[in-house]
Amino acid sequence: MDYMLKIYYQHWKYNKGNIMHHYKNILITGGAGFIGSHYINYLLKKNAGIKIINLDLLTYAADTTNIIDDKNNTFYKFIHGDICSNETVSSIMEEYDIDTIVHFAAESHVDNSILSPSNFVDTNIIGTYTLLESARKFWQERRKSNKDSKVIEGTRFHHVSTDEVYGSLDMQDPSFKEQSPYRPNSPYSSTKAASDHLVRAWGQTYKMPISISNCSNNFGENQDLSKLIPKVINCCINRNPIPIYGNGLNIRDWLYVEDHCRAIDSIIMQGKVGDTWNIGGDNEISNIKLVSLICGIFDTIFRTKKPYSDLIYYIDDRQGHDFRYAVNSDKIKNKLNWKPSNNFESLLRKVIMAYIAKLN
Ligand code: NAD
Repeated sequence: MDYMLKIYYQHWKYNKGNIMHHYKNILITGGAGFIGSHYINYLLKKNAGIKIINLDLLTYAADTTNIIDDKNNTFYKFIHGDICSNETVSSIMEEYDIDTIVHFAAESHVDNSILSPSNFVDTNIIGTYTLLESARKFWQERRKSNKDSKVIEGTRFHHVSTDEVYGSLDMQDPSFKEQSPYRPNSPYSSTKAASDHLVRAWGQTYKMPISISNCSNNFGENQDLSKLIPKVINCCINRNPIPIYGNGLNIRDWLYVEDHCRAIDSIIMQGKVGDTWNIGGDNEISNIKLVSLICGIFDTIFRTKKPYSDLIYYIDDRQGHDFRYAVNSDKIKNKLNWKPSNNFESLLRKVIMAYIAKLN
């Protein structure tokens, strides 16, 4: 069989009986955070006539000014509220006739989860449960009142999760696949793992149309300054010391945030209901190499006598620090034709320039 025909056949076989999801009214949780705001901008630029409701509690990580909203845009609405409030979520479902939920809202900083895990249990577990139950009740009611048994099939609950649920890899281990067992090690990853299990169970038990994505570390513009890349950039801008955990040899896989948004959109539009998807950047790098790379880019921009890497110093390792994360993204590449950008250094430079413009 000719190569292209074979690809079309594989797509057809995979998607057989699976109608492409078309959504009208989308609830995005945590849309004022780093990835959520990029996702909203992605949808607004796509200009697909979708009504977007952004529910966000506005914690330390949020910044509504990152959304390209011109205030007169009738397709976008921000609501300040908590995903743990059943009243808030249920009234939004009803008022805006929500057919699709993309769930980003979470407490997401591993260090904070070690210091104070209770917010993580509340938002990541109870919050996800509250959303699932509100959606289930609303969508099942709607199915009944419409006397159309297929209406629930026109809905989707997409849960945005992390590769950290799989635990840590050694150097020689193969990267995690969708079938890999869950072995979360931090309070953050364990609460995300719990939320993944809830979402899966609501799909299995109540036939709720769910999908889950487990993504590697994202980088991009407008991330909170407490996360690794923005923190290092901010230190360089201010010529402050750059702390590195342990020996700096821990490895992470980095994905550009807009690649993540494209992947989520493909999963919602074309991914089979009930499936989980690994999303990685094919871009593994140790923390010390990454920080040195950022310092090197600063050297080329500012051409100062002292190299920026002189700012680096080592601190005690993070408790329970996972050594290596890496996911195998073959499934999304083969089935949904998605692939990550392959120009890490130039994207990193672009992100650094954006932070310099914003913070200087
Ligand atoms: P973020 O911390 O930047 O944003 C989280 C957003 O959720 C914030 O705007 C915050 O105000 C909001 N929020 C927190 N608690 C809330 C609550 N109770 N009710 C409503 N809103 C609430 O996080 P992020 O980096 O954008 O991550 C988004 C999602 O992606 C998370 O679920 C995270 O686990 C997942 N993820 C992130 C990465 C990454 O590298 N950043 C990688 C893989 C997966």
